[in-house]
Amino acid sequence: MLHSHNVMQPAFVLVDDVLFDMHRSDAAHPERPERLHAIRQALSMMSPQLPSETLPARDATHDELLRVHTESYMTTLDQAAGLKGHFDADTYYSHDSVAAARRAAGGAVALCERLVRRDTKLGFALLRPPGHHATSEQAMGFCLLNNAAVAAAHARALGLGRVAIVDWDVHHGNGTEEIFYEDPHVLYVSLHQSPCYPGTGAASDVGSGDGLGYTVNVPLSASADTAVYLAAVERIIGPILNQYAPDLLLISAGFDAHVRDPLAEMKLEDQSYAALFESLFRALPERPVGDALLPPGVGVLLEGGYDLAALAGSFQATLETAVACSDGRPAAVADENPRTPPTAPLTRVHEADLERAQASLRRFWRLD
Ligand SMILES: [Zn+2]
Repeated sequence: MLHSHNVMQPAFVLVDDVLFDMHRSDAAHPERPERLHAIRQALSMMSPQLPSETLPARDATHDELLRVHTESYMTTLDQAAGLKGHFDADTYYSHDSVAAARRAAGGAVALCERLVRRDTKLGFALLRPPGHHATSEQAMGFCLLNNAAVAAAHARALGLGRVAIVDWDVHHGNGTEEIFYEDPHVLYVSLHQSPCYPGTGAASDVGSGDGLGYTVNVPLSASADTAVYLAAVERIIGPILNQYAPDLLLISAGFDAHVRDPLAEMKLEDQSYAALFESLFRALPERPVGDALLPPGVGVLLEGGYDLAALAGSFQATLETAVACSDGRPAAVADENPRTPPTAPLTRVHEADLERAQASLRRFWRLD
């Protein structure tokens, strides 16, 4: 199947690096190199159909990391390099983990540079270790460096005025929220299971200081399905993205809200992620680029997702739909895989979840 596309641009760029496999625990751990093997396997069976380009990751520089992490935390990481141990009960490090984390953050930065330069409009990054729980000053929740935050800060340093991070990992991205809590130039949006690890991300946490209104939390009770997620985008996140009009969208893409995932209790399926991507993308207004109006570039950064089949299938479904969306074509997936429309009745508890988030955010955004 051939798709029309700009011959100067691949359909998407893919960041990957062998160093990401070198972060591994001696004991059994859900955040393991096999996660990337499963995604690569799925991509190897589909990539002949899509013109893509593999973008080498690079190490993030000290200065790039210092935009979001503290000097003392950098020292802590330097001291752990080449050793084995744990930063906390969940978060191991092995001989090459600190090197892998620097490469993962640098991979996000490299992708970000391409998106900001506008010589690609869509990118995916297979990053390990993941990033969204890493705060400015500590590793936690399997995360060492906050890849999405480092990338967003880099986009700002390159001159972008507004960057949006949508975090659809089932866990709240406490690190990303903390880093940008007072910053109106980076909109942080999270859809997450609540109650669940790490316990942050209440609907009433909306940012502070200049950043008031630019943290958007939509905590959802367990068992939320595609209809709940799409209703959250339709009623809350879509209108906010539309009003914010970001120059760049980064997705903190964990796939652990999948019904098969062992670490959470949500009910998404592979195609739910495709539908979620499409609904977010449709909400983005076009932005002036030179003389043209174009949708903002989109970078999809891997976070969690611990069932290998669910992870690979969801990643592939997201990628196929993202390529279609960024190519300006309707996503074929909608017809082949009928899904619950967002107008289907939600459970009372999920309606209450959405109403609570809306009530917290109406002070700052026009929501129906
Ligand atoms: Zn997660």
